[in-house]
Parts: sequence; structure tokens; C-alpha cells
Amino acid sequence: MGDHDGRTALVTGASRGIGRAIALQLGREGARVLCVSRSLASGEGTVEALRSLGAEARAYAVDVAKKTDVRVACEDILREWGRVDILVNCAGINRDNLLLRMSDDDWDVVLRTDLDSCFAWIKHLCSPMLRNRWGRIINVSSVIGITGNAGQSNYAAAKAAVIGFTKSIAREFAPRGVTANVIAPGFIRTDMTAALSGKISGQILEQIPLRFFGEPDDIAMGASFLASSGARYVTGHVLTIDGGMAMA
Ligand code: NAD
Repeated sequence: MGDHDGRTALVTGASRGIGRAIALQLGREGARVLCVSRSLASGEGTVEALRSLGAEARAYAVDVAKKTDVRVACEDILREWGRVDILVNCAGINRDNLLLRMSDDDWDVVLRTDLDSCFAWIKHLCSPMLRNRWGRIINVSSVIGITGNAGQSNYAAAKAAVIGFTKSIAREFAPRGVTANVIAPGFIRTDMTAALSGKISGQILEQIPLRFFGEPDDIAMGASFLASSGARYVTGHVLTIDGGMAMA
């Protein structure tokens, strides 16, 4: 028996990194997991891993930055599964540059991928959740959305907006038993952070009170809690999982 028995979860960005760890943890705890990634081939690895844990899983290829594609995918998913109980918006990208050098494209694609995608998935999946009077929405932001960071104004804007957006829908959905929370990871070891030079990683490490980098499973544990029945009294919350990085 797991915490998420009988629940259908959908995780975006499930092919690798944090999204994959969240998908596996939800599956381990009994959820059926719908794994969204850019291509079916990239999602299949997570689906195979879920099936080997004994969980039901299915891969969907959706570019989350395209609102029409998300709407069409949601229509298919609802036709097939009826509803999604646990929605985790984890897909995200960064295109870092100082503002003076930032192109319109770098601004637009980060906002579309990291922010607009949350709007689209929630808008098209929330109705059955609200009708069922039970639901869990978890949006993955970042400590950068709280603190800001030179060279990441597009990413910080998107991730900060995710927080304001989530708090607003938490208020809208609360009367119907649907919670909406944010996880704000600090520095987690994934492909996204592997690109940073040793020098930058060293500078970041000095800003982490716990003095080590996080792993995707650290985020998955938080997501699994927020998705559980035990978290029924938690909504509109920003859970920082960051080794203490965002402490004032
Ligand atoms: P990652 O690059 O390893 O994985 C990102 C995932 O999102 C991949 O599966 C990728 O295919 C998917 N994705 C990106 N754009 C997509 C699109 N248009 N359509 C469909 N899928 C798309 O990154 P990660 O480190 O696992 O990050 C996951 C989330 O956590 C992101 O939202 C990121 O901003 C956030 N985050 C990460 C860190 C960190 O230190 N790694 C810190 C704070 C926040």
C-alpha cells in the first residue's frame, strides 16, 4: 500500500533529472504515472523504470511550450483516463545571459516553457479535479525566483511568476479540495546544472549553508509529500529544498 494508490499523476519533464525522480517516487508510492517529455523515445526510459517498479505508466510526447499542443494532449488524456489527480509541472529550461545581451527569443522561450506551460496544463486538467473535490498541483519553481540572479533575469521572472500564479490558483481552488503548491529547488545535480563550470559550482557551494549540492531525489521526496493525503492542509506554500540557500 502506498500513499498514492489509485491516483493518476502527470509529470512534465519526466524523461530525466528532477522530473524523472518525481515520476519514479510517485510510482513507487502507488500512482499511475503519465510521463510527459519532448519525445516518446526520451520518455520511454522513465516509463520502463516505472513498470519495473510495478507501477502503471505511459509516455506522452508534448512540447509544453506550445499551448495548443498541451490542450490537445489534455483532451486525449482526459478521454483515456478520466482525470488527473496529481499534476506536477516540472519541465523547464534556462537561457542565461546578462540583460544587455539577452535576445527576444531567449526571453520568450524561457517564459513560454517555464511559466506559460503551467498555465496551460492546469487550465486544461483542472475541471475534473475540481469536480472530484480532490487534487494536488505542484509547480516547480527555483530559489532564483525568490532571490533573483544576475544573468538569469528571464528565468527568475518566469520562476517568480510561477509562485504568484500558484498562490492565486491555490486561493481559487481551495474551496474544492484542490491544493496548489510550489517547490523551489536550490542547486540540484542534473543535466541543467552539469553545464556550469567548476569555478561557478564552487562559488555556488559557498552560498549553500548545508555545503553540498542536492540530488533529484531530494526534490522527489518533497513532491511526494505535497501530493499525499497527509498534505491536505498545505496549500499556497513555497517549499524551498535548497540546503538553506534562500534563507534571509
Ligand atoms: P533537466 O534539464 O535535467 O530536465 C528538464 C526536463 O524538462 C527535461 O526532461 C526536458 O526534456 C524537459 N523539457 C524542457 N523543455 C521542454 C519542452 N518544451 N517540452 C517538454 N519537455 C521539456 O532539468 P532539471 O534540473 O531536472 O530541472 C527540472 C525543473 O527544476 C526545471 O523546471 C528547472 O527550472 C527546475 N530547477 C532545477 C534546478 C537544478 O539545480 N537542477 C534548480 C531549480 C529549479
